[in-house]
Amino acid sequence: MTSRQVTLFWVVATVAALLLTACNPVFAEPPVPASVPTPGSSCAALNEMAREALDTAPPPPVTARFDAADRKALAGSAFGYLCELTEKVGSRESATKEELEAAAFLMDRFTEFGYSPKMQTFGLWVGASVRRTRNIILELPGRGEGVVILGAHYDTVPDSVGANDNASGIGVLLTLAERLARPPWFDQGASVFPFTLRFIAFGSEETGLDGSLYYVDRLTDAELDDIRVMINLDSVGSGTSLRGQGDRWLTKHVSEAADREGVPFRRKFNERRSDEQSFRYAWLSTLYFSGNDKSRINSPDDTIEFITPALLGDTAVLVLDLLASLEDLQCGCR
Ligand SMILES: [Zn+2]
Repeated sequence: MTSRQVTLFWVVATVAALLLTACNPVFAEPPVPASVPTPGSSCAALNEMAREALDTAPPPPVTARFDAADRKALAGSAFGYLCELTEKVGSRESATKEELEAAAFLMDRFTEFGYSPKMQTFGLWVGASVRRTRNIILELPGRGEGVVILGAHYDTVPDSVGANDNASGIGVLLTLAERLARPPWFDQGASVFPFTLRFIAFGSEETGLDGSLYYVDRLTDAELDDIRVMINLDSVGSGTSLRGQGDRWLTKHVSEAADREGVPFRRKFNERRSDEQSFRYAWLSTLYFSGNDKSRINSPDDTIEFITPALLGDTAVLVLDLLASLEDLQCGCR
């Protein structure tokens, strides 16, 4: 900062402090429900606190297509799955038995929702040995051509339960897989979407995008041609707003949808890469959602008390809106 900027900063900070002590705080943007401050609590207690936090969320604007009850239900569901994964499985380091345990947890959930998930298992060099790791892949058939991929990685670095990175993305992925397999989104053996929706839970992202790289590398040219968009969810659970990085025709739409839904959202261009990068290498259109606070990821501090449940519901709303709008968008597909 220049000295002029420093002076300006202190003037603004002082005025803000005076205002805060003189009267009730005025929020520059709608307040977001507080995170859940109960380390070590059971999922049941945490879910109750998340529900209470969500009750304080401001109502969506009149332009919103998803009402407060929809958003609360989506957020509550995603938070519940996040809690289960972090509590029951905990740390799930890439290519370990804990990652396998997490994969089994996900296979069970997807099967309960009515899918036939497949495991894509492959070997990964770790030090001097090859260890097994796996992606989980399932589909919701649509009424037309093409495939849209919705992905999130489920592994963590060692010694981190990865509540934000990336049980948050997995919580939203599970919630959407569950909802979209039921009416009104699914009817007479097919989803309402004019494309097949493919869900992928990637293993071994933390070792260098290995799960998604393996997946993309095994696709034939015809399979690559079928993919219209890859949407990646990684670390969507902490902070006060969402960020989206990817093709302009996608981020532009999501930005407009966020305004309509009253979701705090910003287009970004310099986020750290995640599994969507593997699809970009193949020249596919991608969109990467994350939250604006990634300060604790890849550390033992990435725990559930720093999760903001409302952000999970907001992510689900924006993804649903995008899926429902894709057919009408002017695709900048390459
Ligand atoms: Zn991640």
